[in-house]
Amino acid sequence: MGKPTGFKEYERETEPYREPFVRLTDFDELYTEHDESHLRKQGARCMDCGVPFCQSNNGCPVQNLIPEWNDLVYNDRWREALDRLHKTNNFPEFTGRVCPAPCEGACVLGITDPPVTIKNIENAIIDRGFEEGWVTPKPSAPDTGKQIAVIGSGPCGLAAAEQLRSAGHAVTVYERADRIGGLLMYGIPNMKLDKGVVERRVQLMRDAGIRFETNADVGRNIDPAGLIEQNDAVLMATGATLARDLPIPGREAKGVHLAMEFLTANTKSLLDSGLEDGGYISAKDKNVIVIGGGDTGTDCIGTSLRHGCKSLVNFELLPKPPLERAPNNPWPLWPRVYRVDYGHAEAAEQFGDDPRVYSIMSKHFLMDDDGNLTGIVTVNVDENIKEIPGTEKTWEADLILLSMGFLQTEHYVNDPLGMETDERGNFIANKQDFRTSIANVYAAADCRRGQDLVVRAINEGREAAREIDRDLMGSTQLP
Ligand SMILES: Cc1cc2nc3c(=O)[nH]c(=O)nc-3n(C[C@H](O)[C@H](O)[C@H](O)COP(=O)(O)OP(=O)(O)OC[C@H]3O[C@@H](n4cnc5c(N)ncnc54)[C@H](O)[C@@H]3O)c2cc1C
Ligand code: SF4
Repeated sequence: MGKPTGFKEYERETEPYREPFVRLTDFDELYTEHDESHLRKQGARCMDCGVPFCQSNNGCPVQNLIPEWNDLVYNDRWREALDRLHKTNNFPEFTGRVCPAPCEGACVLGITDPPVTIKNIENAIIDRGFEEGWVTPKPSAPDTGKQIAVIGSGPCGLAAAEQLRSAGHAVTVYERADRIGGLLMYGIPNMKLDKGVVERRVQLMRDAGIRFETNADVGRNIDPAGLIEQNDAVLMATGATLARDLPIPGREAKGVHLAMEFLTANTKSLLDSGLEDGGYISAKDKNVIVIGGGDTGTDCIGTSLRHGCKSLVNFELLPKPPLERAPNNPWPLWPRVYRVDYGHAEAAEQFGDDPRVYSIMSKHFLMDDDGNLTGIVTVNVDENIKEIPGTEKTWEADLILLSMGFLQTEHYVNDPLGMETDERGNFIANKQDFRTSIANVYAAADCRRGQDLVVRAINEGREAAREIDRDLMGSTQLP
């Protein structure tokens, strides 16, 4: 434990983002430079509480050794902190930027005081590691002669590939998109996770001997049965990208889009041409409404603001969450409380108000004679999502983005295979062995459990790799 009195001496202070008015002028990352002396004090707040709930099941899904690296950072031993961090997390530069930090919700200090700034410290450790040149390709065991195909290059597929390669297997990752990274690349926008950060890690994995095939759409231009035949094992890591739609009257209006159509096209155009090729859906000078919240909704808000939208509203079906934990949401559970994310803060700066409107249900879209979207009619609902008569309202809109969550994985890859799926449409595989109903085929993360978090995808990628290695070799050294 760094400083026994640290938690009494220092207040929690998170690293600030760049000022909203400045960051709204570009798609660069939100974050400011790390201040190491500040972070060492924040590390000193860790109480080394004996039973570190932050790294338990309620906390960090990859069981990061948080008190250990808090202590090492406090003592200015960054290199050792990095080694501890990489023991449990293949990609701390992703989680350090985008993880909602369930660890902080479970921090024991959080029972009486604001929790330790764990996520900031994690991000600073890995950023320092890259700056110093300490991060190198993960070494591999001698070749086993086994060959594994990973379908999907999101955080799950990447973590599994890195682990399997380190065990000495030959690994090829098949990705249907033109760039590697799954939702880390075409989902989470650049201001939250710079795409150079993703590509830097992918290059290290290439250097470790992992093969990546892009534009490799398994089930469309690659035969999945052939992959199973040619490989000793196949891991499905195809994510859960089938979005929930809003089938109300007028859905066909020109100007209503799924959030992912908007976000993916924006990142692709940004990377291909700095948004010069016009290959994206522009929110410039438009009245924008985002229906649905979560990370995806926030990312739609942040992206629309950067385009220069005229107005912005965000509909939430549920009531406003409480400011403090409710009695049925005690520590160490994830606190379901009101939060102001980056996009909300930016909208408030730009237009004077938080953009969220709660307890509101969309009834039908409005359009002109040419089919162009002109607005939407809504009604307020009570806590049981029952409509409140007399509360109908018409909103003007030229662009409406649907961000209401994701249903399941896309199934065409499974059409020729017939793997068993559950009632939600996910591939059936349990978290003990990740085996599907087809021999030598495994499934992990979002395609197995529905869309979740980057850190949980990394966790399942690691665990699935361990089980594949065990099945292929009879025993495993993978964690
Ligand atoms: C807009 C958005 C923002 C998010 N923000 C956050 C956040 O801030 N923090 C957080 O923790 N989580 C966030 N998430 C959730 C997180 O990104 C996912 O839970 C995580 O990426 C899942 O990882 P995965 O590897 O299972 O799948 P994915 O990342 O979805 O990757 C699956 C990959 O498989 C590929 N694929 C699918 N089918 C095939 C096929 N047949 N052949 C070849 N390739 C195929 C897809 O193209 C994709 O690249 C966000 C999600 C979205 C949509
Ligand atoms: S990965 Fe997420 S939960 Fe784990 S320590 Fe980092 S911020 Fe916390």
